[in-house]
Amino acid sequence: MTQKTPITVARGDGIGPEIMDATLAILSAAGARIEIEEIEIGEKVYLRGNPAGIEPSAYESLRRTKVFLKAPITTPQGGGFKSLNVTTRKAFGLYANVRPCVSYHPFVPTKHPVLDLVIIRENEEDLYAGIEHRQTQQVYQCLKLITRPGCEKIVRYAFEYARLHGRKKVTCFTKDNIMKLTDGLFHKVFDEIAAEYPDLENEHWIVDIGAAKLADTPENFDVIVMPNLYGDILSDVAAQIAGSVGLAGSANIGDQCAMFEAIHGSAPKYAGKNMANPSGLFLGAVMMLVHIGQPDVAELCHNAWLRTIEDGVHTQDIRRPDDPTPPVGTREFAEAVIARLGKRPEKLKAVSYKQAPPQRLNISAAKAASTVQAKTTIGVDVFLHWDKGTADDLGAALSPLAGPEFQLQMLSNRGMKVWPKGQPETFCTDHWRCRFVGAKEGTEVRHTDIIALLSRVAAAGFDFIKTENLCAFDGVPGFSAAQGG
Ligand code: NAD
Repeated sequence: MTQKTPITVARGDGIGPEIMDATLAILSAAGARIEIEEIEIGEKVYLRGNPAGIEPSAYESLRRTKVFLKAPITTPQGGGFKSLNVTTRKAFGLYANVRPCVSYHPFVPTKHPVLDLVIIRENEEDLYAGIEHRQTQQVYQCLKLITRPGCEKIVRYAFEYARLHGRKKVTCFTKDNIMKLTDGLFHKVFDEIAAEYPDLENEHWIVDIGAAKLADTPENFDVIVMPNLYGDILSDVAAQIAGSVGLAGSANIGDQCAMFEAIHGSAPKYAGKNMANPSGLFLGAVMMLVHIGQPDVAELCHNAWLRTIEDGVHTQDIRRPDDPTPPVGTREFAEAVIARLGKRPEKLKAVSYKQAPPQRLNISAAKAASTVQAKTTIGVDVFLHWDKGTADDLGAALSPLAGPEFQLQMLSNRGMKVWPKGQPETFCTDHWRCRFVGAKEGTEVRHTDIIALLSRVAAAGFDFIKTENLCAFDGVPGFSAAQGG
């Protein structure tokens, strides 16, 4: 008998259990050679007092099977609960989120009949580091972290994926006209790696106009690689304009483990009503079958699903408003797919996974180690919580505290320079960035000098809330200038 592959399954919350039952019913009828280990995650686990929404024993199952088929979960509102999805992706190093979006014209209503693209979303970094602080009465902060190894891995994954899947072009979206260091790094790495793939077309768009083009003419895109937040938002947009968020599946790929899911959430309004479309989770499961080396079953399932869509068997979310036949429920949709196992679509393009390339690609971020640059600390930004007067008052009070090692170069408020020579119209909050640079500008300052400076600032009654060292790397400043500076 052929050996079964163990997989970890979680039924999740809301519509999760229904769409998981439907998905597993199709896989079972198609003869998927899998052995299910079920774990509990999500709302019940959160409400039992576990802020991660997942028990340590569940991690053991994932570590054992290395393959996770996961239904959506509900993250309870309110502080203290961490997103289980983000935690799982990061705990298991699932750095690449692969989200194919396809339109099924003319069977599923869409304004974009030839949409067929793949969004490759960086899955571990960016604003999803979850490092947030309330720093003053008025100001809250979320840290955006972008790393060179992270960029190298995801960008290389995108190019390798494109090449292996016969795609022609890789597009990158960033906002590097504003975030010159973080998104700038993502763009720079994209350009570096693109040069290694001359067989593939490449292009970069600023994310705002890129998103507009994606929504308007998605047929011009093929593979799109993006930092985490843009990828999260724009993959929902792409799935929705293809027909429904209920239609898109997603693979989260790491070096050792992988997780497969729908891109949508737990849609609580449809929970228990047998109304949800199981297709997103099902198509995630098809990617899983390819991943675990069962392309024959993946192909059987996917083609039966395409035939079902083509035959007009639709859940309510993708039904044409003028369709006289009533929509089917979640269970009936699964039964319709099962009844078509062995059939292929006649008008939609049938899939072939016989030669399917792996989802898990051999990607390394080897370059990072070889590019160590000389780092020099040349100043410090001291952030203050202060509401006792104007920028000029603060500048006058801090300037004498700078010496002998430093000089106060500028103050900014919400990134805008307000001293010296600020604009009288600029609105100021209680959160000030005070930039101290070496008394002789450009020379190195020591940590002990910074500590002495902070002692003087504190002794003068100022509430410093954090510092950021100003460093140069091979002489190139590793920090942004103030706006209006
Ligand atoms: P959602 O994706 O759950 O649903 C938004 C709307 O999209 C639904 O009301 C419905 O109209 C439609 N929709 C989604 N899935 C559908 C399906 N399978 N069939 C038919 N229609 C479908 O987003 P939400 O309402 O913002 O979030 C609900 C919960 O899901 C929240 O607790 C959120 O944190 C969680 N969530 C979980 C995941 C995940 O587990 N991967 C992802 C996103 C959101």
